[in-house]
Amino acid sequence: MARIIQKYGGSSVATVELIKEVAKRAITAKNEGNEVVVVLSAMKGDTDRLLKLAHSLHPSPEPRELDNLLITGEVISVSLFAMACQSLGEKVKSFLGFQAGIKTDDAHGRARILEVEPARIKTELAKGRIAVVAGFQGINRFNDLTTLGRGGSDTTAVALAVALGADICEIYTDVDGIYTTDPHIHKNARKIDKICYEEMLELASLGAKVMEIRSVELGLNYGVKIHVRHAHSQATGTLIVEEDSDMEKTPVRGVTHSVNEARITLQRVPDKPGVAARILSLISKAGIVVDMIIQNQSVSSEPIDGITHWTDFSFTVPATDFAKTMELMKETGREIEVGQVVGDDNIAKVSIVGVGMRNHAGVATLMFQTMAREGINISMISTSEIKISCIIEKKYAELAVRSLHDAFELEKA
Ligand code: ASP
Ligand code: MG
Repeated sequence: MARIIQKYGGSSVATVELIKEVAKRAITAKNEGNEVVVVLSAMKGDTDRLLKLAHSLHPSPEPRELDNLLITGEVISVSLFAMACQSLGEKVKSFLGFQAGIKTDDAHGRARILEVEPARIKTELAKGRIAVVAGFQGINRFNDLTTLGRGGSDTTAVALAVALGADICEIYTDVDGIYTTDPHIHKNARKIDKICYEEMLELASLGAKVMEIRSVELGLNYGVKIHVRHAHSQATGTLIVEEDSDMEKTPVRGVTHSVNEARITLQRVPDKPGVAARILSLISKAGIVVDMIIQNQSVSSEPIDGITHWTDFSFTVPATDFAKTMELMKETGREIEVGQVVGDDNIAKVSIVGVGMRNHAGVATLMFQTMAREGINISMISTSEIKISCIIEKKYAELAVRSLHDAFELEKA
């Protein structure tokens, strides 16, 4: 007997018919002798609809009230799911996040799970029932309801898997698994059979949208075996597991891109201690998250505009923060007397990810050669142990993804 968490996303519970389908799937797993805990998202579109209602009444709804509203999406789906199970003669009980013992901090709208007390869930499992839990929500120390941020049901599922010592956490969605790249961009994109947490984290944070990042972090920290698979197919999906020796044989696991970034450059910045801190402090005070940062020192034997030592300082921020960041940087630029502040939000970040990069030579070279062959100019480069990202002109993003996918032969298993 195994203990299984099954999480179904919004598209898998979009209609009552689909709810009945996935209820049957959970019942089958139980009839095979397993203990089954189901975690659900809201029916597809419901969270967006609720957000729209809120914003039609107030431009920035109070987070506590917004959470009271948003949790109702998952309240609907779990109640209907329980009814569907009961109509099929199955013993089941539904739980809201707080009833399932999901305790969070006070950060409404992006709460973190602090603790899970799954006593009631365990009792129901022992009675031979399926337990169905509303994803994306919890309760804080003031007994106020909280939500975990968009896509947070994945986190609920993995957190429950940890608390219940589940054998596996199955994430059911409307795709067959994690792909080498977005199949809408490259027809040769291939489903990945097995990926390690670190690669999945990089892919998720670089733009691949299948799994919510925090849930993968939790999986990594507690070694939860995660299986991402299609809700309406029996095919095996993608396993997210600890790295094994086989995984290093492939230099690149996947290619991804994001177009939601903007680049800002401060040119001819005085080259002296404290300047970088000064540049970024205003931005962090404004709550803006900086991604790539690149600084380059220049020295000239003859003074240019009176100076011989300067740096060029570039960084990227989310595109939505571009205007605000430019404003802040023009101010800072005047104060610390930089040459010019320039910005560009017509950019994309294209990245390749793979643990095998650590022991394969020439991965960066092949990436840059591939861009060169397509005539794509690279304006920024950043790397980590298992990732290389390039900032390029937005219009080339998909071309770059396709060419890199071909160059690294990702269509081959
Ligand atoms: N319903 C929430 C959302 O749309 C949580 C989830 O689906 O995971 O973000
Ligand atoms: Mg999701």
